[in-house]
Amino acid sequence: MRTAVFPGSFDPITLGHEDIVKRALPMFDQLIVAVGENANKNYRFPLEQRIAWLRACFKDEPKIKVDAYSGLTVNYCLEQNAQFILRGLRNPADFEFEKAVAQTNRKLTAQVETVFLLTASGLSSISSSIVRDVLRNGGDYTKFVPKAVRLP
Ligand code: ADP
Repeated sequence: MRTAVFPGSFDPITLGHEDIVKRALPMFDQLIVAVGENANKNYRFPLEQRIAWLRACFKDEPKIKVDAYSGLTVNYCLEQNAQFILRGLRNPADFEFEKAVAQTNRKLTAQVETVFLLTASGLSSISSSIVRDVLRNGGDYTKFVPKAVRLP
């Protein structure tokens, strides 16, 4: 079984994340969208909220599992018997950062390969941090996130 882990903060999930997940799906038997918990990061939304949104987004897709983990992503992959890490690339800054992370992960664990999908044109400017800025300033965040992401 081909299993990939799509790790991220998803604070919150955006249309960019959703697009990467949908396009990657045909390549794998199972895709685990995994919220990584990093003690040094300050998140805008609590873990439970981020997970609930992810579950709502992908509720009709049986190949997708939503989970949370802490610690090294490669260790989580080994635990889950996942052979692949999925990441999205938006721009050269993403590339440089992702290259370093992927090469480090390969040194840690040769069994886990990182695969990248390029962002869809039109979605490359969307990031969770910009969505948080829009939200903070009362803008219409619904343009940038899946329908399942709604604030009361
Ligand atoms: P992290 O904190 O690990 O960067 P994110 O939730 O910000 O977590 O991102 C998770 C993954 O989704 C990363 O690979 C990131 O490059 C990708 N991603 C984020 N936004 C987009 C987008 N608009 N288009 C394509 N990929 C994206």
